[in-house]
Amino acid sequence: MSVTVIGLGPMGHAMATAYLDKGYDVTVWNRTARKADDLVARGAHLAPGVEAALKANELVVLSLTGYDAVHAILEQVPQALAGRTVVNLTSDTPANARTAAEWVASHGGTQITGGVQTPPPGIGTPGVSTYYSGPADAIETHRAALEVLTEVDYLGEDPGLAALYYQIGIDMFWTGLVGYLHGQAMARAHGVSARQFREHAVKSLDFGYFVELYAPRIDAGDHSGDMENLAMAAASLEHVVRTAEAAGVDGAIPRAILDTFRRGIAAGHGQDSLTRLTDVLTS
Ligand code: NDP
Repeated sequence: MSVTVIGLGPMGHAMATAYLDKGYDVTVWNRTARKADDLVARGAHLAPGVEAALKANELVVLSLTGYDAVHAILEQVPQALAGRTVVNLTSDTPANARTAAEWVASHGGTQITGGVQTPPPGIGTPGVSTYYSGPADAIETHRAALEVLTEVDYLGEDPGLAALYYQIGIDMFWTGLVGYLHGQAMARAHGVSARQFREHAVKSLDFGYFVELYAPRIDAGDHSGDMENLAMAAASLEHVVRTAEAAGVDGAIPRAILDTFRRGIAAGHGQDSLTRLTDVLTS
């Protein structure tokens, strides 16, 4: 029932809070120390440095901006990693996650890689999960502590796997979310409020039907345009661009998608399903 949390951005702060709520003995360290003030007021220990933070507990949770920050911090005191399990919940590429896991292991520690699938308010609440990968025995040893944060979605031993799943998810998330915001800029410019459109937005953003339909077709390389095709999609997107630009809304985002559709059409795939984009987008 003790843990160190390094990195007190909104996410690490929420994690330290969740551990305090569950009665854990929590040690924290952050480059900007004042971000620990309220946690210390609640009983957390502020380590005077990285070495003390690592030595305080066998289980160390890292929540940093990227792996450059991970290395900037841990490379100060690599000897302090011996015997430590580092739960690295920092977003970065699968390759960087693998390199870091090897480096931690070379200093006698163990890295569990994680990709958190909730914003900070979801930490410690039911129904949200984190992708994990790395040594199965380390996951099992620390499962109770991991479950203080979110449910555990364990993917396998490869330390890059959790980072990969996370980046795939976040790729779809950012693209979808910016699509929502672009739509709302267009709505507002045409006099429709975000609240007015709220219910329609929720329905439009529900891609479950297409995921179920497309997944087996993508895997089978079946791009038959029996339901929709790239030529139709390009014509449809031209209407979106015109509706946006007529109201003074930047059309760059739909234009970028339109360009992608047109690349597919130019390559002779105008009558193929949009699933053909999985090929068009691969160099
Ligand atoms: P922030 O980028 O706000 O937090 C960054 C933390 O990293 C801070 O503690 C910051 O220290 C520290 N840091 C950055 N660079 C350095 C450095 N060179 N040396 C030392 N410390 C450094 O991120 P969040 O807290 O929002 O998120 C943490 C991780 O979780 C990220 O990888 C993010 O992608 C991921 N994530 C975030 C979600 C969210 O909604 N916020 C959702 C899911 C995942 P300082 O305070 O001194 O600046």
